[in-house]
Amino acid sequence: MYDFNKINSSFDLIDKNDDRIETYREDTMMRGDPDAVLRARDENEVKEALIYCNKNKIPVTISASQTSMTGSSVANNGLLISIEKLDGVIDINTKESPPKAVVKPGTVVADLQSAVASQGYFYPVAPTSRDECRIGGNVSTNATGEDSFKYGPIRKYINQIKVILLDGSEKILKRKLDESPSLELNKAGYFADWKNPIDLFVGSEGTLGFISEITLNLLPKSPEFFSALIPFPSNKNALEFLVKTVLAKIKNLRTIEYIDSGALSAMKTYKAIYKFPDKAKALLYIKEEFNTEKELSQLLEKLYKSVTASTSSYFADSIVIADSPKKKEDFRLWRHRIPEMANEHGREYWKNGGGKVGGDWWVPINKLLKMMDFFYSEAEKTKLPYMAYAHLGRGHPHTNLLACNPKEKEIAQEMVIRCCKMAVKLGGGVAGEHGIGKLHTDLMPIQHTNSTIQKMIKWKKEYDPNFILGRGNLFNPKII
Ligand SMILES: Cc1cc2nc3c(=O)[nH]c(=O)nc-3n(C[C@H](O)[C@H](O)[C@H](O)COP(=O)(O)OP(=O)(O)OC[C@H]3O[C@@H](n4cnc5c(N)ncnc54)[C@H](O)[C@@H]3O)c2cc1C
Repeated sequence: MYDFNKINSSFDLIDKNDDRIETYREDTMMRGDPDAVLRARDENEVKEALIYCNKNKIPVTISASQTSMTGSSVANNGLLISIEKLDGVIDINTKESPPKAVVKPGTVVADLQSAVASQGYFYPVAPTSRDECRIGGNVSTNATGEDSFKYGPIRKYINQIKVILLDGSEKILKRKLDESPSLELNKAGYFADWKNPIDLFVGSEGTLGFISEITLNLLPKSPEFFSALIPFPSNKNALEFLVKTVLAKIKNLRTIEYIDSGALSAMKTYKAIYKFPDKAKALLYIKEEFNTEKELSQLLEKLYKSVTASTSSYFADSIVIADSPKKKEDFRLWRHRIPEMANEHGREYWKNGGGKVGGDWWVPINKLLKMMDFFYSEAEKTKLPYMAYAHLGRGHPHTNLLACNPKEKEIAQEMVIRCCKMAVKLGGGVAGEHGIGKLHTDLMPIQHTNSTIQKMIKWKKEYDPNFILGRGNLFNPKII
């Protein structure tokens, strides 16, 4: 047992025997057992803790809000540094071009968005978990959001980060003026083509250093948009409409999400914001931007006509539009409820050795229909309850299977592996959103050759020769 009070007796520490440690033990997919939690209040405390742990080879895990659900913020042992108290917007600089927000890593994304909007600007990367997750977590997972179909992942908006390394030194990593950051969806390990070390840190899942300050580029005020929930008679209809009509013909899209029959039937019991037609078996959730009222009515008319042509007026008449801030927020919260519901169901089976088994694979959009066919035929074979939903416009659905016991869990996990192999074969990847963490290290060799993985391990060793930081994240400890 380590005595972290030795580092600094005024630390805000929660030790193993304190009940409050329970809050920091798990991330809804994995349970850990940290020896203590340090709720760091400033950069000096982080530096002191890192220097001590590095010297004594004590594992350190960094946690923000623990919504990444891969075990990456869960500590099996050692010290967990929580960033929750390192929050707040330091500055919004509107004189620079583009304008910038400088934030502490513990700032909740929704709070940042509100602060920026109150000054007339727009920060577009808002994960569905925006009310909980923090910017430090977002940078470390290269987060995307509902609107990333149009606006891309956080990497694109990061202008500068300050990192604290394990020897306690600070490094400022800044973008050059002529750099155009990659929009790549892949989140399996380090960004292999990095030129600027900023890109190595983005998506590094807490394995290289502590990100203590982030400077983000902002956009001008958000354009107007409306949201629509479009019903379809089957998953196949919804998917074909998405590829052949929405992606091919609608130009001002901000968001395209999918809610398949499994997700929709589970959600029919939740808050009647929308009266689903009896024949509706799947939905698309889209947002379209517009500049004038005239343009809005043209877009709505076009949408109505194309849904009628693809299904029938029964479905077109049942499209639900949200054009007021309140209704749009209702849609968003309803959509956010899908993963929450899936996680809650999954947890009910933990005690029997089962749980939710999720897939995070992605494919290029021209391979989407083929991949979804494969997913549904594989899911049927498992005979387990399943659903697919979310960011289909980027070729990246969330897929969930519900396993009641260890045997079913194994069946579900094998099926996810088969899907990942197929996704890679089709030119996609194994992780499009949540990352690898501790739970999915077995997926890395599906996507990367051994030499690429060894290259990543070499980069890791340059920053953390003792492998104390985020131990177990990205790389299976057995291969190190
Ligand atoms: C309901 C729900 C919806 C979601 N929707 C989306 C979505 O739309 N898009 C999306 O991308 N993700 C989504 N996620 C996943 C998750 O919210 C993101 O991965 C998010 O970026 C994690 O943020 P967090 O604050 O919870 O970080 P955590 O989960 O606590 O940590 C994530 C990683 O960041 C590291 N880390 C955190 N802070 C620092 C720091 N200061 N320095 C170094 N490393 C650090 C941790 O060690 C860990 O490896 C969703 C999750 C849920 C539960």
